[in-house]
Amino acid sequence: MQDTVQTLISNVAFLVAGVLFIMALRGLSSQETARRGNVYGIIGMLIAIAATLSMTGDRTQPVAFAAIGGGAVIGAVMAARVGMTSMPELVALLHSFVGLAAVLVGLSMQLAHKENALAHRIDVYIDVMIGAITTTGSILAFLKLRGSVSGKPMLLPARHLLNLSMLTGIVVLGALYGMDGETWALLAAAGIACVLGVHLVAAIGGADMPVVVSMLNSYSGWTAAAAGFMLDNDLLIITGALVGSSGAILSYIMCKAMNRSIFAVIFGGFGAAPPKADKSKPAPPAGDVQEMTADDLAEKLSTSKTVIIVPGYGMAVARAQHAVREMSQVLRDKGVDVKFAIHPVAGRLPGHMNVLLAEANVPYDIVLEMDEVNPDMPSTDVVIVIGANDIVNPAAEDDPTSPIAGMPVIQVWKAGLVIVNKRSRGAGYAGIDNPLFYKPVTKMLFGDAKDAIEKVVAALKAL
Ligand code: NDP
Repeated sequence: MQDTVQTLISNVAFLVAGVLFIMALRGLSSQETARRGNVYGIIGMLIAIAATLSMTGDRTQPVAFAAIGGGAVIGAVMAARVGMTSMPELVALLHSFVGLAAVLVGLSMQLAHKENALAHRIDVYIDVMIGAITTTGSILAFLKLRGSVSGKPMLLPARHLLNLSMLTGIVVLGALYGMDGETWALLAAAGIACVLGVHLVAAIGGADMPVVVSMLNSYSGWTAAAAGFMLDNDLLIITGALVGSSGAILSYIMCKAMNRSIFAVIFGGFGAAPPKADKSKPAPPAGDVQEMTADDLAEKLSTSKTVIIVPGYGMAVARAQHAVREMSQVLRDKGVDVKFAIHPVAGRLPGHMNVLLAEANVPYDIVLEMDEVNPDMPSTDVVIVIGANDIVNPAAEDDPTSPIAGMPVIQVWKAGLVIVNKRSRGAGYAGIDNPLFYKPVTKMLFGDAKDAIEKVVAALKAL
């Protein structure tokens, strides 16, 4: 009787947690409700952890407490220490933990219950395969985002054949494992899946990395859902399905924004044209640039009617969002129409710029998407590009041999004047030169974004 009541309470708790997770996702879909969404997620997770602990037996409870407690402490320290610019790496690393956990749970289920029914073996096999691909793929994504290995795509000549052979190997071993549940077949297939994960992610790089990260996010959800079936845990199934489907939707949205095929991402650059030029080194800067001082810019801005600010990764590095907000406020106080233009892959994390601008209290109604501002560019007096590079590179439109060819960009060069603030003429994440710098309409404001914008604010205030 006590067990029945206990199970009932746990099931209700899981249901409540599942609903809270759905509300969290809904909240996170807009800036105004994001904080509330986070709170729902935290409450849901606390309920889920409490219910899980209450379900563990007396013998395993200390181990569960130690594991969850240890994990919580490590997670809290990592979250407190991580800089906003290192967040994508951390996310990629966390995906690899989900994958690894799924693989370990699958293997332990295999070792503990060798004589299982076919349905159970299928669960174990799917869980371990997706988990293994997610683990190694995410570790490589982490290393690429961290800059420890080259971010360039590695396109082997026979890569599709290689992928197909590995996939065939996994299917054949899966059939063998399904028939007699032999551990060696599961381990061999997991080994192949690990190599496949590395190979799929190695084939994608440069400006396409954001899609890889959201795709791995989706995989980590599906592997958790498979683990949920294996462990007969409804909450894991619900949560895994939520993460898997929201990651898949985000990947689709980002593929659309980047004008890329989702199949190219899933199958590791399938259909991607082989590089036509040597992209191992960024092309040397081509052409002369014109410079502008902070004082001259302040003068120009104060006589402008419309100004668009395009933030990028450099704004995050310099932590310049507060100075940028102050500049926008001073200009608005002077009657200038100021808007922010956000590219879907600006920074190193989906929504990276929105988070930074929200943190600096920039009003949401002046923060617009790329598609909303591009038509306004020809009628804009000044565009200020702050630490952005790839997302404003006209080569995406003009040069079919460019690695970012076809990716929609913010068409800043159509405005009356473009000011590009960065520290040097160096390349952005995609490692390619930017012809924007050499256009007659462009002037460079060299320097760290925070310093440079603070100087502009001071000059504006002094006018
Ligand atoms: P980029 O990486 O293209 O360019 C950022 C620029 O910021 C650099 O060229 C750098 O130039 C400049 N910079 C760096 N530090 C500072 C500083 N302290 N002050 C001023 N400038 C600075 O960034 P974008 O935002 O334009 O584009 C994002 C890129 O990242 C895209 O290629 C995208 O695909 C990729 N990406 C995006 C992810 C996402 O989810 N959003 C995830 C993974 C990759 P300099 O050194 O000369 O100062």
